[in-house]
Amino acid sequence: MSPLAKVRQRQELHRELCRDCNGDKPVLLIGIDDTDSKYGMCTTYIAALLVRALSKYGEVSLPVLMRLNPTIPYKTRGNGAVALFVATEKEGEVKELVLQTVAENAELKAEGTEPGIVFVHRHELKSDRERRLAYFSAAAVRHVLSIEDAKKTIAKLPLEHSAFKRGRGLIGALAAVGFPFLHHCSDERLLDKTYELIAYRHEERWGTPRDIDAASVFLADHLTYPLTWDTVDHSLRRVICAPHSPCPVLFGIRGDDVAAIHRAYEIIRSEPVKMTQLFITNQGTDAHLIDARICDVKDYHSYILKGIVSREPVVIRGGHVIFSISDPDGTASIDCAAYEPTKGFRNIIRRLRVGDIVAAYGSVKNSTLNLEKIEIIKLKEHVIKKNPKCSICGRTMESVGKNKGYRCVTCKTHAPSPVLIMERRDLEEGLYEVPPSARRHISKPLIRFPPEVRAHPSR
Ligand code: ATP
Repeated sequence: MSPLAKVRQRQELHRELCRDCNGDKPVLLIGIDDTDSKYGMCTTYIAALLVRALSKYGEVSLPVLMRLNPTIPYKTRGNGAVALFVATEKEGEVKELVLQTVAENAELKAEGTEPGIVFVHRHELKSDRERRLAYFSAAAVRHVLSIEDAKKTIAKLPLEHSAFKRGRGLIGALAAVGFPFLHHCSDERLLDKTYELIAYRHEERWGTPRDIDAASVFLADHLTYPLTWDTVDHSLRRVICAPHSPCPVLFGIRGDDVAAIHRAYEIIRSEPVKMTQLFITNQGTDAHLIDARICDVKDYHSYILKGIVSREPVVIRGGHVIFSISDPDGTASIDCAAYEPTKGFRNIIRRLRVGDIVAAYGSVKNSTLNLEKIEIIKLKEHVIKKNPKCSICGRTMESVGKNKGYRCVTCKTHAPSPVLIMERRDLEEGLYEVPPSARRHISKPLIRFPPEVRAHPSR
């Protein structure tokens, strides 16, 4: 991306977040994370409550839902953190309300739920401090950080913050307030953004099965795809925009176009909705992927690794498909896995052959790359030797013996050598992805790639 385009994108994002905060009031940025557990709650719900509650103190921006490193073991589900901008002169009241809302709603009794809150005064952020925030934010999407790392950055800036228990949530809270400043990083995947409209359930229904009319969700997808995506999985005929956990989320519509997202929402029939909230997000952007060489790979990081298939795919117990790729100079190799939940994607992987040049996209754990996408860059041409056919009767000739040629037993014709033919590969070059049901929140669906990319989207 050109420097000018980068600056434009940055201005657009900043304008969007500050859309309602352009007055002369000081703007306070609020980051929040780690309020939920597998038994309930969702940090986005707390953000939605705050958008409403804080509006009496000033204008509130569109909240940010930022997905962080998807391999982090401490995550409840999608490793999401939230941020809000508030233009207010009543800073004291705002902070008190934020603390109170988190304390009342967070799953504080659950082991591992350690909320963190960070406050940043927008007007005090000069570009060197913006840069520091941005670098922390980018690191939280791609690397593994410690609570100490967050505390050090908080102390250096310095920022007001609140932590419950050990405050692991400070990592995500600090990362989320850095989201609008990611233009300080050079990688364009970090600059991308999308939207999600989340519909929340009434409290008395939390933990009960969700009542959503599947046919209406398929219709919403039909009428708004590709401006919305990952609402349903066509291959499994399944609605995937609704979670199965006891959290307050009823469903979420993701996409690039806010009007299309709202149109999809209007089409869906479901149980009564308590409230909806639109978020600006880094979902569907591949922001987590690092371009690297195979020899530099570390566990708990996600990569795009270019390599040559060095071990043919094998299907192992459970239906998982595993193969290996090597660096072009053969010095390092890594196993890549298409696990059973990736369903039809495994049929593509099974057709790879030694020598194919690919780029594998995915997260590394236990020294194995869990495939999210694959780019087949160049299929290796395999030559197959076949017995020639008799020029008189057309039947396949027999080998006379090693290096002795071929003969037709009926017509007694002779051919000195086998026929060499190119193996027909039942596979096209280009990018392939796992189906929506197996897609990570942060993974970029191929339908979002520019048209010049030879992509095979899965929906
Ligand atoms: P949900 O998506 O439902 O809100 P979650 O999956 O986001 O839940 P959290 O409850 O937020 O899970 O837990 C994730 C924890 O991991 C948070 O404490 C967050 O601060 C921390 N964390 C996030 N990114 C990193 C990282 N890169 N390194 C270390 N810790 C991280």
